[in-house]
This record gives sequence, C-alpha cells and structure tokens, in this order.
Amino acid sequence: MAKDKHIADLPSIGESFFWRKEFSRRQFLIGSGAVFSWAMLQKMSFAGGKAEETTATAAKKGVNKVPSVCEMCVWRCGIIATVEDGMVKKLEGNPENINSRGKLCPRGNAGIKLLYDPDRLKFPMIRVGERGSGKFRRVSWKEALDFTAEQMQRIKEQYGPEAMIMSSTHNLTQPYFENLLKAYGTPNYGTQRSLCFNAMTIAFLFTYGVAQPVVDYENCKYIIYAGRNLAEAISNSETQRMMDFAARGGKIVMLDPRFTITASKAAEWLPIRPGTDLAFFLAMGHVIIKEKLYNQEFIQQHTVGFEEFAKAVEPYSPEWAAQRCDIPAETIRRIAREFAAAAPAAVVHPNWRTSNFVNSFQTERTVAILNALVGNWAAPGGLQPVPEEGSALGSLPQPPYPTVTAPRLDGVPWKHPLVPLKYGVIQDIRDALLTGEPYQGKGWLVYRQNPLMSIPERRKTLTALKNLDFLAVIDVIPNDTAYYADVILPESTYLERWDPLSVAGNRVFLRRPAVEPLYDTKSGLMILKELGERLGLGDYFPYQDERDVIKAQLAPVGISFEELLEKGWAELQEEHHDPYYLQTASNKIEISSSTLANSGENPVPAWQEPPAPPVGKFYLLSGKVAQHTQFSTQNNLWLSLLTPDNPVWINAEAAKQLGIKDGQPVIVESPVGKVINKAYVTEGIRPDCVFMAAGFGHLSKALKTTYGKGASNSSLHETHTDPVTGCQALSETFVTVRPYLGGESA
Ligand code: SF4
Repeated sequence: MAKDKHIADLPSIGESFFWRKEFSRRQFLIGSGAVFSWAMLQKMSFAGGKAEETTATAAKKGVNKVPSVCEMCVWRCGIIATVEDGMVKKLEGNPENINSRGKLCPRGNAGIKLLYDPDRLKFPMIRVGERGSGKFRRVSWKEALDFTAEQMQRIKEQYGPEAMIMSSTHNLTQPYFENLLKAYGTPNYGTQRSLCFNAMTIAFLFTYGVAQPVVDYENCKYIIYAGRNLAEAISNSETQRMMDFAARGGKIVMLDPRFTITASKAAEWLPIRPGTDLAFFLAMGHVIIKEKLYNQEFIQQHTVGFEEFAKAVEPYSPEWAAQRCDIPAETIRRIAREFAAAAPAAVVHPNWRTSNFVNSFQTERTVAILNALVGNWAAPGGLQPVPEEGSALGSLPQPPYPTVTAPRLDGVPWKHPLVPLKYGVIQDIRDALLTGEPYQGKGWLVYRQNPLMSIPERRKTLTALKNLDFLAVIDVIPNDTAYYADVILPESTYLERWDPLSVAGNRVFLRRPAVEPLYDTKSGLMILKELGERLGLGDYFPYQDERDVIKAQLAPVGISFEELLEKGWAELQEEHHDPYYLQTASNKIEISSSTLANSGENPVPAWQEPPAPPVGKFYLLSGKVAQHTQFSTQNNLWLSLLTPDNPVWINAEAAKQLGIKDGQPVIVESPVGKVINKAYVTEGIRPDCVFMAAGFGHLSKALKTTYGKGASNSSLHETHTDPVTGCQALSETFVTVRPYLGGESA
C-alpha cells in the first residue's frame, strides 16, 4: 500500500509497455488515418466498421468483437470493440446505431487510450496532504465509502441536507445520481447546462414545448448556423449528415466571427460581430414579414402571437442591423429571401452551446420564431420534434422522495424563476459558497464533472472548493477537481462496466464491459448503490448488480437480457405522437410566449445591446476542437498527439500592430485573470476577437500528459449571468494581449 504519496506517483500497471511494444504512435496513425486527416488535412473523414462476428461476452480467448456504446462524449455512438486475448485493440462504429452510422470520430477511436491511460484513477484514495497538494493514500473501497458516507451524514445532521451540493455531467447513470441526491434530501443539484445550452433549450421549450428539435438534413436545402461548429464540436451522426448535406449542394450560411472548419464547408461565411446575431435575425424577421414571405396558412393554424412579433420587428430593418453586426444590409435581405424561398426545407439551426451573451436567450427565441414563420415544423427538410427519449423503458420500484423545503443555492426558482429545476445555474452555486447566502454550503459530491475547469473565474471556484468541509469526487481520471478532493471514488471506464441502457432512435443499446476492470474500480451504478446503503437509503437502490437495472429497463420492451447481450441492441415499439408534438400551454407554437408574459418578461423578442470591448481589448471567444471533449480528453495520449494545446487565435493585422509573431508566447489578461499562452496568427478571425479552445491549462499534476500545456479560459472568464435562463455569457469577457517578454508569471 502506498502511503502519503503524490497522486501522480501512485503505481500503475505497465501501460507504457503497451504503448511502446503493442501499439506505436505510427501504427495508430496508420490504423486511424481518418483521425489524422481530421487534424492535419482539416477535412471530414471517419473510420468505418461492421457489426459482424459479434460475441456475447468479452471473456473468450482469441479475437472477440464486443458491441457496446462510446462515452468519449455525450453522443453515445454504438461501437464494436475488437478484443484480442483480453486487450482492446480497436474500436469501430456500429452501423446498427444511428448515432454512429458505422463511424467514429477521433475521440471515439482514441477511447482505447482512456482505458490504458497510466494516469487514470486505479483505486480509492483519501487525501493526506493540504488540499491541492495532490497527496493521497490508497484505501479500500470499504474505507473510502464509509468515510464518504460519514462525512455526508455529519453534514446532514449538523447543517441539514441542503448544505450538501451534488453535481453531475450528462451520462447514462445520471438518473441514479439524481436518485441519491433526492433521497438524501438536498435541493442543490449542479449540472453544466447553464454553461452550455440553457438559452437554446429554454427558448425552444417556451416556443414549441420541445427542448431540442432536430434538422431533417436529408430533405433540407438551406441551413443557417450561428456559431454551431459541427465539424469540430462533433455530434457524430449530425456532423456526418451535415457533411452529406454540404456534399450534395445544400446551402450553408455560417455566422461566426471565426473561420472554423464548418465555415470552410459553408457556401457563405459571414464574420459577424460577436453578440449581434440577434440583430441579424430580427432583421430577417423584419424582411420576411414586410415582404410577406411567411407561411400564412401555417401561422394561422399552428401559432399564436404573430401580430405582436410583426409589430416588434418593424424598427429592425436590415440597414438598422447592418450598423450593429457588420453584415451588409443587402446580404441580410438576400439571406432572408433565400431562406423563405427554400422553405419549408430551410432551417435556422437551433445551435448548441448558446451561453455566449446575456442576449443569447432573445437570439434563440428569434431563431425559434424564424423557423415558425416559414412553417418548417415537422415538414420535410425542416425542424423535427423529438419526444423525450427512453419513455418506453421500465424502472425499478422505489419509495417516494422526502419533501425538500430549503431554497436552492443557485437561485432556482427564487432568483431565476424560469430556469427548469433539472438545469440549474451552477456558477451561482459557486458564488453562494463564497457569500454564504442564502446559507452556507458545506460539502460537494462531484460525479464526473470538473467545476474547476468549467465555471468562469477559476480563482473564485478554487477558493470555494478550498473552503468546503468536504469534497468527494467520482471520476475515471484524476481531473482538476479530484486533485483538490478529500476522497476519490474511481469509476471503471466505459469499456469495463455495465451502464443503464442507451436509446438511439427506435432502438436500445447496451453498454457493457469489453474487458474486465483493469484496476480496483467500480461502475457508477454500484458506487451510488453502496454509498446510498451506507447513508440508510438502500431502498432507493433496489438492485444487486447493474444487470438488475438493465433487466428492469427491458421488462416492457419484450426482449430478454440474454437476447440483448447476444445482439447488443433491441428494437423498441414505435410510439405514435401527434406529428406536430407541441407541448406548450396553448398547444400551438408560441411566437408570443405565455410563459414569459406571465412572468412579467417581454413575450416577444426585442433588441438587447451586447457590451463591446473598449479600444485596445478583444472579445475572448471559446469553443471546441475536433480532437477533444470539453475538459476530459486532453490527457488521452493519442488525442494529445493530435492536439496538445490551445494557442490563442489572433488576427494577423491585430498581431502586427501589437508586435506579436506566430508561435510567440503572449500574455492574455482579463479583469479576473492572466494566462501565458502561444499565439496563432491567422486571417481566420475578426480583428476585434481572440479565441482559445476550452479544456487546457489543467491544474492537476496527476494528468501528466496534458499538465503544463495550453492555458485555461476559465481563469480569464468573468461571470455574467442572464437572469431569465441562468445562462453564463462566456463571450462577454474582454481581454488584452501582449507579447510575453519573460519575468512575469500568470
Ligand atoms: S461523437 Fe465521437 S466521442 Fe462522441 S460518442 Fe460518438 S464516437 Fe464517441
């Protein structure tokens, strides 16, 4: 047993042997030529695969093909793992799964290097040094779980259950994590949504009653994206469909201050001024209404509030918008006409990470309304409603939850009345920990989430975590938040564990072990159950093992566990919905929102002027690269070889004026932080913007592959929250950039 050791020094199994002897970098690049081309050739390509030769278990000697589900991001692609003598040698896309369509993205291909990452968490640990010293001792599962339960029980008894925060990413085990927090009795649930897509989902919920409609790419002719960078922020099947759409001549109009890979696939790239997409879309609405290009019959039958919106957009002419968004009035007018002419096979895409400006909610409401004006809802080539997934699956019986009366730390609903409870406002939880208002949070259980990297103003988050009585982390890798934890409960990787079922279209897929766990780790389902039992909440986890959960889910599907194991997936009974599936109070598309009106908010969109950087400062833009998922994959050796860091994109002319050369170290400074990073000088970004990809600049020294590489934009981000949606405005931080001349620390 290793005592008082640094987390990074705790022993590992000979993964480096695997890397050197079994699978060299060169072999990987040959085997995954598609991945290489993503990075180097900047074009789309995927590695294909077939579902033949699948076997029921991974235990057989020789070569086995094990169907399962990827978890390198939240898209849940079907995979086929090739297992040779107990070692995963290759991952391919499962053609039976509509999320992968037989192909994987670079991250999916590189899932092997999560399994064999020498830095991954291998056994439970309890901190022995200062918080953040990285000093832990190895303990048994019994000791780790007893300690966690004792601390959680102590907090509950001393301060009430509300003093315990629980937060989680979006994953298949999340409902059982929610089970634990509801049974324990805390209202304080943290998700990442307020840092991601709250503005979009809430806008579409208020307009259609459907949070995330999808595009019928196969029949579509015209798509407008506002910052939706599908070629790099990969949602596998949608990215493939977008590429097919572009290849067959569908027109893409891309609004983005940066020339992304998606912009390179567009017929038109419009480098719009950040925060002014709202002006562009209001002006499109103005043109469509003034020139009577809307679908009158659809509006009469399926919408409410058209007249209010028509009146509201009267002042927003293309000439008015042009002064704000730097796009010529004639271009806006032409695009509005083209969009309406292609309708209903035309879409303004709902977008995804819309937490950019405080006006992002109004922007998304206008996007939702433009689609309604041309009547593309449920039409061929238009937006399609997607009912809640998984409703056909069964579940285990359990007792009712205790009543919770304490207010939430994140102000939902007392400060943010319109934010759904399951979304929350995680940056406000952090702030409440610092102010002690409305009461003092004392403990935090973090499930595969990394608040230290995701929440703006990292310094504040660090202080908030250091002040906690108790911090526990369940994760696969020693991420930054785990590095500051009191106890670490290591979860098995997705290639080693059973999870609840994944629904993809009209099928369910099974995530199951391709290999037995390599180390002393457990599935999330078993960690939550064993913790729940120690907290006296065992009735909420009525399963002996993960298979009981899966069997309960399968009960109404009409397929046995054994059959599912053999095949890897099962067909669900087709559910019939109203083709329009509108879930609003009026059962119509609410161009004028009754929810907003009842809350005293403007029921139709109006212009909200975004803040702009003063002379000498830049907008700080954030986004993704194709080789990484949020904050979780930078330590993956293969992905790190492709994209090791996140240089600061700066416009060539702006760089010249500041005396900055390509590759030179620079200091990027905001009112709340400062980082040293290297410059990437390019024509592909507006002169008033700089860009840094998210996910680099890790604090955890235990992530040895990525530690010390790149810089964190959460160190720079200021906290600006939209009171309506709780959405963090990530692009409202303005920074200076100057050459780094040495002698200054970040
Ligand atoms: S999009 Fe890529 S990382 Fe995400 S589930 Fe699919 S293959 Fe895995």
